[in-house]
Amino acid sequence: MGVLDEAADILDHVADRIESHGWSLCPCGDKHGQARIDARVLDALRGDADLVRTAGAGVDG
Ligand SMILES: [Zn+2]
Repeated sequence: MGVLDEAADILDHVADRIESHGWSLCPCGDKHGQARIDARVLDALRGDADLVRTAGAGVDG
């Protein structure tokens, strides 16, 4: 398993935590739109994981 694969797994893992455990970027408890921001971060993390995997596949052949 390459370094890029591990990085992709970590990104996926964090995304899973945010999704299933309700992790938030802002733990202050006030409702000020952080759920919407968290959803975007979730998309970004999963997108990055895909990107890293694609890049890794290119490097490893
Ligand atoms: Zn807050």
